[in-house]
Amino acid sequence: MPLAEKKLIQQIRRLARGGSPVVTGIGDDCAVLRVPPGHELLVTTDFTIENVHFRREWHPPGLVGRRCLTRGLSDIAAMGGEPRAAFLSLAVAGDVPQKWVDRFLNGLLELAKEYKVPLAGGDTAQSEGGIQADIVVVGSVPKGKAVLRSGAKPGEQIYVTGELGGAAAALAHLAESKPGGADFGHFPMTFARPSHRLSALHARVAVGLSLRRRGLASAMIDLSDGLSTDLEHICQESHVGAEIEAEAIPRAQVGPAKKRVALELALHGGDDYELLFTSSAAVPAQIAGVRVTRIGRTVRSAGMCLIGADGKRQPLEARGWEHFRGNM
Ligand code: ADP
Ligand code: MG
Repeated sequence: MPLAEKKLIQQIRRLARGGSPVVTGIGDDCAVLRVPPGHELLVTTDFTIENVHFRREWHPPGLVGRRCLTRGLSDIAAMGGEPRAAFLSLAVAGDVPQKWVDRFLNGLLELAKEYKVPLAGGDTAQSEGGIQADIVVVGSVPKGKAVLRSGAKPGEQIYVTGELGGAAAALAHLAESKPGGADFGHFPMTFARPSHRLSALHARVAVGLSLRRRGLASAMIDLSDGLSTDLEHICQESHVGAEIEAEAIPRAQVGPAKKRVALELALHGGDDYELLFTSSAAVPAQIAGVRVTRIGRTVRSAGMCLIGADGKRQPLEARGWEHFRGNM
């Protein structure tokens, strides 16, 4: 049984710390936030729903909490912004153990501490069944400087941070070892990490900030649904096409043998929370301690194509995660 609402809020209030942008945090009708002069606000919101985004029997609660906030921070990173405060709306059914809630909150608040983002408010309710969490992250960026999906021009280079496909590979591995795991193909949450180490989930805030400050990214998005699907967003918003070199994609190395994940997972697997951006400038191979890899270029003609090691081209379809895909 989770604690009653008032108790739970008291507990969250004790655990959450204020931060410099928060004038008034948990405990009033609204939070009062300070916005740096000359800045605009960034606001992002993301659901985390049991049996849609995670399974209680598969995913440790701390990891679910951590991923919940990661998604919000990653969106702010993709705009080149700085996260300022987070808000958590949490609905929990009466039969969810308080221990689950504690661990979920600990995972979320641990990440909040790492990124110095105070939890400044939220809402708490009893759900009809299971767990639903909605995270709101508020960030800021100097006026007019947010890096949009729509800024790419033809003839620019396309880059990604880090390595891709690791989260999808870990989920595939997890699914194989679980009853009913064969269904995982219909299951979007691929965030289980190879090592199950909570700290493996990150948001590329420092990289996004550095790219924006140095004027290096013309368009940017974070990789939450999969490279193919997220690249398509940049292409559509920027009215460009893309050519991706299969061999250039930095594939994650997983397991004790450090085996490279399949190309398919790197192309379409979700939950990597890396940044994908376009640039016409010379981009360093490492930014804020994170590897940056050129994987292709933008072109004038619409559509995406994949160039194989043999130089052969094939159309690249967006096959990452999409809700309601079955309804199309
Ligand atoms: P209200 O009735 O105005 O919605 P609540 O009693 O729901 O107020 O909340 C009291 C305070 O606790 C508010 O500051 C709210 O932002 C905060 N709060 C409630 N639930 C959460 C939560 N899950 N996480 C963080 N803060 C919360
Ligand atoms: Mg409320």
